[in-house]
Amino acid sequence: MLSASDGVILVVVTLIVAKWGVQLGLEWLNRRHVVAHSDRVPAGLEAVMDEETYRRSVDYTLAKGRLRQWGITLDVAVLLAVLFSGVLPWGFRTALGAWGESVWSMAGFLVITMIAIGLPSWPLDWYEQFHLEQRFGFNKTTPRVWVLDRVKSLLLSVVLGLPLFALILAVVNWAGAAWWLWAWVCVLVVQFILFLLAPVLILPLFNRFDPLPEGSLRERLLRLAERTGFQAKGIQVMDGSKRSKHSNAFFTGIGRFRKIVLFDTLIEALQESELEAVLAHEIGHYKKRHVTKMMLVSAILLLVGLYLVAWLSKQAWFYAAFGFQTESVAPALLLVGLLGGVISFWLGPLLNSLSRRHEYQADAYAKAVIGESAPLVQALRKLNEQNLSNLTPHPFYSRFYYSHPTLQEREQALTAAT
Ligand SMILES: [Zn+2]
Repeated sequence: MLSASDGVILVVVTLIVAKWGVQLGLEWLNRRHVVAHSDRVPAGLEAVMDEETYRRSVDYTLAKGRLRQWGITLDVAVLLAVLFSGVLPWGFRTALGAWGESVWSMAGFLVITMIAIGLPSWPLDWYEQFHLEQRFGFNKTTPRVWVLDRVKSLLLSVVLGLPLFALILAVVNWAGAAWWLWAWVCVLVVQFILFLLAPVLILPLFNRFDPLPEGSLRERLLRLAERTGFQAKGIQVMDGSKRSKHSNAFFTGIGRFRKIVLFDTLIEALQESELEAVLAHEIGHYKKRHVTKMMLVSAILLLVGLYLVAWLSKQAWFYAAFGFQTESVAPALLLVGLLGGVISFWLGPLLNSLSRRHEYQADAYAKAVIGESAPLVQALRKLNEQNLSNLTPHPFYSRFYYSHPTLQEREQALTAAT
């Protein structure tokens, strides 16, 4: 007869192995699909890439896939080792023994554990940046910038994580059984404050932001913002080229503090009419309230997660399965954090289909505002070419992992008669 704790172990291991198997299976499918289409540029995309660039995009896709397989397997090995070696209950006892049973010492245990679990993937990250990305000409990062980025991120997770966990644990002590509801409200408020302050306090730690210089581009983009009734305090250029040749655009802040941010790499790659189309697409996201909708989805997931923590922390069999003997909520917070991925992985296709719908809507908005689809199509083609994007992902693979429709899908939607 299995005990309840054995049952938990069995379920958890099954979930981890199932995710691992599906991930490797998806990599395998995608690889076969890409190789099967590798001899020539897919029909209809000849204008996007020439033969040589297409071959490079195939090589890049395959090289990234191989590296990802290692990453997936390493993550599984680390997770299994951390969960079942007894290191977590040992760390918990040690932390409480050294610092006492205050919420701060438990928060310290949580932050240190989260950081430590991230460390084993650093060598692979290094390899990806300085070998793989380097080989295909994308890397612009120096080892110094790379190390500094890590150090800054570590300090940020301590500075932000420690008080946040301490706050949640204090709410547990104060609010009783319904603490998860109160903690949810607290976390949402903290998230909102960070969302407001990030452009001023966090992003400048990693990048330089300069106003877009006076000139025809700036005037054109400001006219677009005015025409669409998009309030913005200014347009800024971010030095994305400090790290990589990949490019992007986004906006930060809310209300009249909103700023449009363009990567310098994007400005370099695109013509003015194409940049205007990209900005129109981003404004489309704003107009259709996509950011708000995605935040709502993540808030709901957070609520479910916190409820799960509250419930599991009361189940002796759950704690026993992982070697914990405590009344504290902290281990459940950690375990749900570690195991959340093996459950949320299966939500990927659902969340991505929502995100794709948003992309189609933003594209349609851009087309309507610009009056034609050509500049956006041209911009998307250039970005796919420049990023050596995989033009032929396996359909299952893109369902699971792609938050954006493929170039072909977007072009079809943009050029279809409306
Ligand atoms: Zn978009």
